[in-house]
This record gives sequence, structure tokens and C-alpha cells, in this order.
Amino acid sequence: MIRRTALLAALLCVGGAAAYTVKPGDTLYAIAKAHGTTVEVLTRLNGLQGTALKVGQDLKLPGAGTASTPAPPRSAPLPPEQLAPTPTGARIAGVNITVPASLRMGEAFVLRLSGARAAQATVRFPSEVGEDVRRPNEVLRPSGAAGEYVVPGRVVLGKTTPVVYEVTLDGALVRGRIPVAGLDQPIQHLNLPARISGVLQDPARKAEDALVEQAYARRTPQAWSRPFAPALQGAVPTSSSFGQPRTYVAGGPVAYHFGTDYPARTGTPVRAVNDGTVVIAGRYPVRGGLVVIDHGAGVTSLYFHQSRVTVKVGQKVARGDQIGEVGSTGLSAGPHLHLEIRVRGEGTNPAGWMNRLWPR
Ligand SMILES: [Zn+2]
Repeated sequence: MIRRTALLAALLCVGGAAAYTVKPGDTLYAIAKAHGTTVEVLTRLNGLQGTALKVGQDLKLPGAGTASTPAPPRSAPLPPEQLAPTPTGARIAGVNITVPASLRMGEAFVLRLSGARAAQATVRFPSEVGEDVRRPNEVLRPSGAAGEYVVPGRVVLGKTTPVVYEVTLDGALVRGRIPVAGLDQPIQHLNLPARISGVLQDPARKAEDALVEQAYARRTPQAWSRPFAPALQGAVPTSSSFGQPRTYVAGGPVAYHFGTDYPARTGTPVRAVNDGTVVIAGRYPVRGGLVVIDHGAGVTSLYFHQSRVTVKVGQKVARGDQIGEVGSTGLSAGPHLHLEIRVRGEGTNPAGWMNRLWPR
């Protein structure tokens, strides 16, 4: 599940001092293994608080001096709210558990398990009980390989109470909590014209929603081994995007926007954000020209409003494969791609996945 060839190529040797610059998708375990050392040694050498890494972070390797080599060029720094805080963790039956120290509403995150028996652990999020989420508190088995495993979590939009996690191994149980902050977005009143909002009353909508629910309920093995990539080349999302609370008609109920909108010309190729299997491909009343890809591990990506869908149900796609073209079909007021990345059916911020193997 981890690209080890890239790890070796990125090894910097300057004046006998070896250092390594963290790339998207790297894990401490994989870096340690690729350089013939251990997580413990790297943790001590670099004064790390946990196993979470930041892309671009310089790590000292055993026998090395200070990692003073400038990092190779990389993408622009993330806005502050997307920077990973110091992770926190616990230990159970020889397995290390690492989680983010804090989360934001609508964020996907991972609980990392490292150690020889990590694959045997099960994870639950009991704080989901009573939340408006699909299959709350499901017993989850980790995805991964070679001593480092992850379980993806989700913070549903509208939630600001802490995430509680439980890890069980050999009859022992460890419980922890992660605080959650809100997004502070003002409600946007769209006041859609009747010809567009009328779509919400379309009787075929029920069948469309039921089909999408089936996709969310799938539990297949993790299908990807490379970081997630954008669905459109160079497209910039609109400012009112993921997590935006909205009313669609004057006085209507508030609904959260579970995706990110990328305005683009009709016909612009839409590409799979990662490897997976197409589970929905067709034209529907609300979502318009729709493709849903099951990436495994409970992760699905959805692409709405396309003018043309160029894949079929059951087809395997690779990251970057064209799946359709941008359009303005379904509940849409102009050409754009609406992209969703869901964890066990709940919308998570796509920005947290881009250029990463897993969100933080
Ligand atoms: Zn949208």
C-alpha cells in the first residue's frame, strides 16, 4: 500500500549527513523500513511526538547531522486550518495509536495503528451514536500493510462535540477523545428559481437517493496505493464551497453543502481522484450526470452535474482516468463540477485528501 521506490529516490545525502524530506503518502514506518531503521529510532532522533508526518518535513536519518538541506520545491503551503496539529496517541497491547490532536467539522481523519499486531485491532467511534450519520459506531477493521494500519474517521457537518474513539485488541480497550471546532460559515441563501428548485420535488429523486445510499453502504478493501489527485486540472473551487450551510429556497430548511464546487467550462474532462470501481454512472434528476467511484475502505468519490459520463458501472478506473465531462445537469445553475469524497457515506472536505494517501 506504500510506494517505497519514491522513498529511496528522495533520500538526500549532503556532506555525509543523511536526511529525508517527507512526501505525500509517506508513513514513518515506511521511511524507517526503506532506510533500514525503526520508527523508534526516527522518533527519538527527530524528537517526534507521534507517527504523523507533514509533507515537506525534514527528517534526520541515523548517522546523520542536522537536516539542513533545503527541501525540494513543493506546492504552496496549506492555509493554517489545514496544517496538521501535533498528533496525540495511546498504546494498547504493544500497538501505538495516533490521532490528530484536534479536528474541524466536516473533516476526514485517520486513526493510525502501528506495531506487529495492529491488523488485529478493531476500532469504533461511539460518539457517532445519536449523530446524524450512517451506521454509527460500526466495528471497523484497519486498512494497510506492513505494520502500519489506518481506520478513516469522519466529523459530520454540524457536529462540534468531541470525537470519541475506542480501540480493542486482545480483550483490552483504549478510549480517547479528539476536540472538534466549527467552520463558522454564515448561511448562504440561494433562492433558486422554481425551474431549478422544482427538481427537488422530482418523484424520481427517491430512487436516485436510494441508489446512492447503496454505494455508501459498500465495504470493499482499499483499492488505492497512491495519493489522491484533483478531478479537474488547475480548477479553483468557489469560495462558498465545502461545508457551506445553505437554504435552497426562501424560508427553506438549512442544508450543508457536502461537496466542493469547481467552476469549469462544459466539456472539461473530469478525472477519477484515485483508483477504484465505478458503482454508479448515469443521468439523475438532482445530481445530473453522475459518477460514483468506490475506492474501498468505506471511501467513495462522487462527481455531479456532468454533461457526459464516459464510464460504465463495474468498470475499474485508475487515478487520473477520464470519467466524464463538466456540465450543468441536475440541480445546477451553471457549468461546474461538484466533487464529494465520503467516508462511510458522510461528506468530508475533499481538500483534506488531495495529494495525500490518507487525510491526516
Ligand atoms: Zn455543489
